[in-house]
Amino acid sequence: MTFQELQLIEPIYKALQEEGYSKPTPIQAKAIPIILQNRDLLGCAQTGTGKTAAFAIPMLQLLHNNPIKRNEKSRIRSLILTPTRELAIQIGESFAAYGRHTNVKHTVIFGGVGQKPQTDALQRGVDVVIATPGRLLDLINQGFVKLNQLEQFVLDEADRMLDMGFVHDVKKIIKLLPAKRLSLFFSATMPPAIVTLANTILTNPTKVEVTPVSSTADTIKQAVYFVNKSDKNNLLLHILEDATIQTALVFTRTKHGADKVVKVLR
Ligand code: AMP
Repeated sequence: MTFQELQLIEPIYKALQEEGYSKPTPIQAKAIPIILQNRDLLGCAQTGTGKTAAFAIPMLQLLHNNPIKRNEKSRIRSLILTPTRELAIQIGESFAAYGRHTNVKHTVIFGGVGQKPQTDALQRGVDVVIATPGRLLDLINQGFVKLNQLEQFVLDEADRMLDMGFVHDVKKIIKLLPAKRLSLFFSATMPPAIVTLANTILTNPTKVEVTPVSSTADTIKQAVYFVNKSDKNNLLLHILEDATIQTALVFTRTKHGADKVVKVLR
């Protein structure tokens, strides 16, 4: 599969070449044709699989191919909800990169910083808003954001969104969206609560799944030791006696557990 086979428009194709992307990742090869047909999608994919481009590229193409008319007022056409400010910034950078030869404008909205630059950007007019839920709701309540003419909606990292306690904010935002819209839903895991949430957002979605990318380097040797709980400290001390180990990182499940390990090592 090549980007040419995905029938991307020239401005986007050119931007991908400039990014040095030679071929689509599996999630992109599967998701892009579905989204370009304006069909809802349920994507089971982790960060690192290229999932951001899998939704950003076809969304940009749909927006570019159907520009709003000259006499129409600018309005928010797309919303991407994501759980953290870091993810929001990264997604913003992707829209900037892939959309650099289109006229699609975007802005990023997140909490913990002053809102003035964000409201200024909104008032200048943007097509795409990438936001974390809390600050977005704030700005909606203050009248800076109107979602009643939205065409595209993405819920990114839905499982993390739930873990971080954003479910009520997300539900409030979804209630404000027009019923007729394109909806895309991405989650690394699909526990029942996520499936239920997806069902409230998506209409007749196509499910796309990719296997997670391997996160360990070949140069790292891995081993598992099965020991009783009471022997774990002794095993750790025994392993650390190996003089070739210069530095080590020990993970524990809890803060309390970390304190106990420190005491033993001291
Ligand atoms: P993501 O899973 O969206 O966080 O993307 C992971 C990384 O892969 C990002 O740094 C992207 O710039 C990069 N990437 C996405 N698509 C491609 C592609 N088709 N070829 C090469 N790199 C890519």
